[in-house]
Amino acid sequence: MDVDVCVVGAGPVGLTLAIGLRRLGVRVRIVDKAPATKREARALVLWARAREALDALGVGETLRHRGVELEAVTVHARDRALGELTTGWARSAHARPLNIEQHDIERLLSEELARLGTRVEWNTELTDVKVHDDRAEFTLRHENGTVESAVAPWIVGCEGTASVVRDRLGIAFEGRRRTGLQVVQGNAHPTWRLGEEPGRGHIFLAPHRSLLVFPLPGGGFRFFCFRDDPDPTLTAAPTIGELRDLVAETALMPGLRLEATDHLWLNRARFSDRVAARLRSGRGLLAGDAAHAWAPVGGHGMNVGILGAHNLAWKLAAVHHGQAGESLLDTYSDEQRLLAVRYIREMRFNFMELPLPPLGFRAFTATVPAALARRGFQRRLDLRLSDLSRSHRDSALSRHRPGRRYRAGPRAGDRMPDVALTADAGIQGAAAVRLHTLLGYERWTLVLHAARAGAGVLDALRQACEGLPAPVRVLPVTPWDTAEARRLGHPDDLRLVRPDGYVGLVAPLARPALLRSYLVALAAEGRTPVRRAQEHPPHRPH
Ligand SMILES: Cc1cc2nc3c(=O)[nH]c(=O)nc-3n(C[C@H](O)[C@H](O)[C@H](O)COP(=O)(O)OP(=O)(O)OC[C@H]3O[C@@H](n4cnc5c(N)ncnc54)[C@H](O)[C@@H]3O)c2cc1C
Repeated sequence: MDVDVCVVGAGPVGLTLAIGLRRLGVRVRIVDKAPATKREARALVLWARAREALDALGVGETLRHRGVELEAVTVHARDRALGELTTGWARSAHARPLNIEQHDIERLLSEELARLGTRVEWNTELTDVKVHDDRAEFTLRHENGTVESAVAPWIVGCEGTASVVRDRLGIAFEGRRRTGLQVVQGNAHPTWRLGEEPGRGHIFLAPHRSLLVFPLPGGGFRFFCFRDDPDPTLTAAPTIGELRDLVAETALMPGLRLEATDHLWLNRARFSDRVAARLRSGRGLLAGDAAHAWAPVGGHGMNVGILGAHNLAWKLAAVHHGQAGESLLDTYSDEQRLLAVRYIREMRFNFMELPLPPLGFRAFTATVPAALARRGFQRRLDLRLSDLSRSHRDSALSRHRPGRRYRAGPRAGDRMPDVALTADAGIQGAAAVRLHTLLGYERWTLVLHAARAGAGVLDALRQACEGLPAPVRVLPVTPWDTAEARRLGHPDDLRLVRPDGYVGLVAPLARPALLRSYLVALAAEGRTPVRRAQEHPPHRPH
């Protein structure tokens, strides 16, 4: 076998996964039945956490140059402005949402993957798969009709909602079809009184309808209309005339003119809300829409899929390289399923985007101006939409053992905040340094306050990591000021940060044995304590 992992599907999720695996020295084959990257109107927004994940994989800046950052969104009730949503409240190098077409993301990711030595095999369809204890056997059909029998230690289905891998592994896609909701979308240049300001979007609320309008990198807007579904049998793509009428009626702009940028970008879609019963069956795994899918209320399907690929690649590489037991892969399944289940639940209450009946519309729009005027509301919403406040606190990988009952700072399972640091021993340069630039996807990072990092402490911590397969960098850091010190956490605690940037362990510096037992459990086959993830109340974001 000259391949370690076969990735099925070169959408945004399969490509992210393949890049993550390649960066960690895993040999990847990636196949897709399509002749090339798809060209259709799908996702447009990369939220902050997905941007951070892609940045950690080396493509953050490439994407930034091809997109346009969304700075503010004006919320209208029909033709009346209710207020403004602003973005970028979080501390992150990628705090704002980036508007970029999904097909551009896919093209840029394919190019990056090619730079890493792996090319997508287009026109290659997976038709069957069987997993054994030590390998996956599968069948591929090529463009010329030839059928190939292939084998690899692992196979990951990233081939969308109609996943062959999921079907052949016998994994149920649990959930249901969503009725009564239709999405009509298209890219167009409007002639209207609102003008065209890069970085500004609009949301129009109306009874039975909501309309999202986001700027496109090359000029013009994506019009995205959630509406009741008056005729579920209607499947034909909308015309520009239909889109114009929808926008004109929703925003009360009878004189509106819309000019389509390209007719390919007009589509009509309906959705199901579904999550696979599990994301792993032995040597077979699922990611992206193959694992979970829901109506694009909130615009997060692709984003959550990318976060899943970022979560899975390092775990699969660690297991394949013998650095961790296979049960580490079950933590991917548990964490990602829970994320998706929570999303689906939350999005059912997203009244900013779901069409409301007239009474609901009136009640909701009456509350919006006061809410938008509150900084706290703006900040909380931004942290939620950006995915920066989402955590894996209930994961089997999250162990929280601080010295006292409550201490400030991130808890086990939280995203490690991007704390500003002063230049320190081992860190070059004099200006503030961001912690995220010092974390690495290829290792764990043990973060502690430099003020507590005496020679004895460092020796004990290094000994705790010694002789174990997981690569750990011990990183003493000096926060920029007292506010940053609070964000880093109590100085008497250590924080062991996973390769994907979430805190795995919080423990007192004085108890290196806790660190050792965490790493030993990770390494030992089947000894990572797999307790099932459970619901957890929302927590305070950092
Ligand atoms: C209308 C619409 C609007 C959306 N808007 C948003 C949004 O605003 N924000 C957001 O985050 N998400 C949005 N989404 C969701 C987003 O597009 C998906 O979540 C995303 O495409 C999932 O990526 P993926 O890589 O898992 O799967 P896909 O993008 O579906 O890619 C799967 C790939 O697998 C290939 N394939 C399929 N079967 C096989 C096979 N048997 N063998 C080999 N290859 C195969 C396909 O050709 C395809 O290239 C939207 C989706 C739709 C339909």
